[in-house]
Amino acid sequence: MRPLTMVGNWKMHGSLSANQAFLQELLAAPDLGKKPGRFALCVPYPYLAQVSQLLAHSPVVLGAQDISDHSHGAYTGEVSGQMLKEFGTRYVIVGHSERRAYHHETDDCVARKAKAALLNGITPIICVGETESERDAGQTLPVVRRQLQAVLDLLQNKIADCLIAYEPIWAIGTGRVASPHEAQDVHRELRLQLAKFDADAASKVAILYGGSLKPDNAKEMLAMPDIDGGLVGGASLVAKDFLALCAIDQ
Ligand code: PEP
Repeated sequence: MRPLTMVGNWKMHGSLSANQAFLQELLAAPDLGKKPGRFALCVPYPYLAQVSQLLAHSPVVLGAQDISDHSHGAYTGEVSGQMLKEFGTRYVIVGHSERRAYHHETDDCVARKAKAALLNGITPIICVGETESERDAGQTLPVVRRQLQAVLDLLQNKIADCLIAYEPIWAIGTGRVASPHEAQDVHRELRLQLAKFDADAASKVAILYGGSLKPDNAKEMLAMPDIDGGLVGGASLVAKDFLALCAIDQ
């Protein structure tokens, strides 16, 4: 049984005072931590230190939203895995569709970033997903298979130490959600692809759904056999919504 995994992606939101207020509300919730599960918040780089301190000894762990594929050197603006590790970062999102689209990250680059995370003991959350036009052209499965295969080729059996997030791009931040069956079909394909590679990893790796997940649509989604949790944008900015997502029984 894979535990429920709920990961918030704050994207480029927050401020020192708003983060403090959010975490105060989140951590005051009496039920948080009573349920088994893995909970994380992926915050902007400048807030790693603040959020790391506030989350200390809580059931919610720290995550980042990107990582350099280099270990160190003349890469202005980049942040290395070792730096993330120093702040207690446990998860890092790699290959989010916004980075693939706006920063031209390729499948190979995403795979190298996942490797950089693992080399530093940080769990990569590897995002895959199709655009609306790819979906309309019936290309969903070939696209996500290609994205996952690039990571499998580089990481080999280390894939067992990763998380995967299926995020249909047309559902991110749009209020449009994939139907639970539609998402399940993709998750099952991803798990089959993992199983062809490494059966043990396939049963172990959590595959999260992301795309307008909210407390009122998550229960049905998480009831699907291959959907193990969520990667959540908008709803992770509202403490009561994130708490409600973490409290869902699978
Ligand atoms: C995301 O940022 O990965 C995401 C899924 O956003 P939202 O939940 O807002 O659609």
